[in-house]
Amino acid sequence: MKVAVVRNRNNDGILSRFGQLCPEVYGPRSVQNVIDALREAGHTVAFFEGDKRLLANLEQFLPPDLKTGLPGGMVFNMAYGIQGDARYTHVPAMLEMAGVPYTGSTPLGHALALDKVVTKVLMQDAGVPTPRYQVVSSPGQRVDGLRFPLIVKPRHESTSYGLHLVQDRQELEQAAAEVITQYQQDALVEEYIEGREVAVGLLGNDPVEFLPLVELDFSGRQFHAMTWADKYHKTPDEPKKICPAPVSEEMADVLRKISLATFRACRCKDYCRVDIRIDPSGRPFVLEINSMASLGTGGAFVLAAQTAGYTFQSLISRIMDVAHQRYFGTSAPLGEIASPARAGSSEAANREGVTEAECVPGTRVFSEQQMAEHHIPPYKVTRFYEEQIRRSGYYDQLRQIVEPSLEELESPGSLDTSGESDHTRIKGLQHKYSRTALLLVTDQCFSYCRFCFRKRLVGKASHEVVRDYGPVAEYLKGHPEIHDVLLSGGDPFVLGTEQLHKILDHLLPIPHLTSIRFGTKAITHYPARFRDKGLGDLFRRITMAGKTMVIVTHVDHVGEVSEEAERTIKRLLTSGVQFFNQAVLLRDVNDDPDILADTFGRLCSLGVRPYYLFQARPVRGASHFQVPLRRGVEIVHDVNARLSGLQKTFRYVMSHVSGKIEILEMGRDDRLWMRYHQSRDPRKLGRVFSRPYREGACWFDDLPRLSKVGDAV
Ligand code: SF4
Repeated sequence: MKVAVVRNRNNDGILSRFGQLCPEVYGPRSVQNVIDALREAGHTVAFFEGDKRLLANLEQFLPPDLKTGLPGGMVFNMAYGIQGDARYTHVPAMLEMAGVPYTGSTPLGHALALDKVVTKVLMQDAGVPTPRYQVVSSPGQRVDGLRFPLIVKPRHESTSYGLHLVQDRQELEQAAAEVITQYQQDALVEEYIEGREVAVGLLGNDPVEFLPLVELDFSGRQFHAMTWADKYHKTPDEPKKICPAPVSEEMADVLRKISLATFRACRCKDYCRVDIRIDPSGRPFVLEINSMASLGTGGAFVLAAQTAGYTFQSLISRIMDVAHQRYFGTSAPLGEIASPARAGSSEAANREGVTEAECVPGTRVFSEQQMAEHHIPPYKVTRFYEEQIRRSGYYDQLRQIVEPSLEELESPGSLDTSGESDHTRIKGLQHKYSRTALLLVTDQCFSYCRFCFRKRLVGKASHEVVRDYGPVAEYLKGHPEIHDVLLSGGDPFVLGTEQLHKILDHLLPIPHLTSIRFGTKAITHYPARFRDKGLGDLFRRITMAGKTMVIVTHVDHVGEVSEEAERTIKRLLTSGVQFFNQAVLLRDVNDDPDILADTFGRLCSLGVRPYYLFQARPVRGASHFQVPLRRGVEIVHDVNARLSGLQKTFRYVMSHVSGKIEILEMGRDDRLWMRYHQSRDPRKLGRVFSRPYREGACWFDDLPRLSKVGDAV
């Protein structure tokens, strides 16, 4: 999706200047880190100043969808504002007025959190302990009833800006006068709490995730408080950050509870940091809430997120997700597609109703009508996969998986080679083999494979996809023979984690389901999807429900296996996910025993069990990927000759309308020997049979149907 990063760097985009400029600013490195993280997640990113020109810029970059009227993207808000008491609120208020969704707190939350006095009142109302305080509005105003030493600070500043520690009345009056005159605002005077300081990071809205606590280690310093210079890393003795903080679980629980109460009382959204003091007797006092917790890599919030297992990129994605969830009820779309079609010309072409696509070989312009008539899927590939295949050393082979070919206009075939329509029992649910039900949960993928046998639906707004899981659950409940549900499509991980949870709400209560399978290419095409911590919870939910959690990867070539894919698989294996792989034998891509043996060997070494090598199907617009069956048998022989006994775990099969047919051998009599591995007809199961081979045959139906002994079909 399109994401505009908004920040304040220059202060010239205003009509006039009033009072104190905002002292807070995100450094260019921090902003760039966020931009890089968003781009790595596949988003299209631009950045803008949060000033008077902002809305005009956003109108250009994020125009609303003309059909739906919905916003054309989101803002990732890093703007502290330029000037004024409520400067954090300025950009969110502009965005609210213009109808642009954004990350982080709303104007209300920022206004409440930025006014430290209002924050304290709200905390007290919510029963949150906070140091006793008074407000000094004019120099010389008397302060009574507070115990020295005291902290004096501006009412509306953050990052410890203008903070003083005073020991007596004279120092207090000086400090208060300085704050009032220099910052042109009230001075907040509060009791200094000697003791430990702990920061609590909160992420999300409902539920809120608590990040591991961070303690600031002031040892060796006389003044036990974070100063502005500390926060901007300008002091040689900057307090060390210890994460997780060494506090008892009982204390941690208390700190989390009062942080959440503060977060709610101040109406904050998406993420924040709450700073708390613990006095020597163990009593906690909330100092303040930071509604724009720093995303700088040296800050406590990022450290806590990293300790919790987030990478910087996944933290930024998570913030996007929780904000998107707040607006639209779903996670932010992931795996934004990088279309290699040249942007300038395709934009012009789109207006004229044609799409230019970079083809193999050369460039070709398809009209929309041609694309529709030939069921040519959109040319889309994730940036991650494109980069992986470029650096794999196998680019010429692997590009054919995702780049359109002129042959797509000519390849004959069917759009339903496996008889899926015949086995569709209710919308989106196929029940072909007794123990397994297949659900079409989406028509979208991270990239569109040119050989896909579901060309009829992927990349389109298909009517075949499940829209209502109620009837699906009823069907499954009424068929106790079904043990295994396969979520397919499309790629199920294109769906937001919340949507996947909703699907599970229907599936997990069904007692006879023993496994939930996800068929996906995300492992190779967009492994960043699995950095979503919410997915870990989803997988745990499946195993806690007593079901086996299975991911069926679709790796066709060893060059698709990136280092990140390997790390992802290893990590998920340790959390109890089981992995299997299915591959398709593809002409000019992997029809080479060395490549396939390397692919299966690599998968086995990672703990992924190869279980099917599919004969490519005679799909309309994709049958040029088929390898003749004779050649297929030779390749499989040669692959097995290169693998150890432990690695020979796959079957070479055709997924035919009549069932899953395992291809066994080419006989000396030039007959192809086969066996039904799966069939609705139990009489066929396991039965070996043969058909005469016709040279060049690529599919079961290409084999002459001669009636001979052993010809079972
Ligand atoms: S990811 Fe799967 S469903 Fe999507 S286009 Fe590729 S083969 Fe088809």
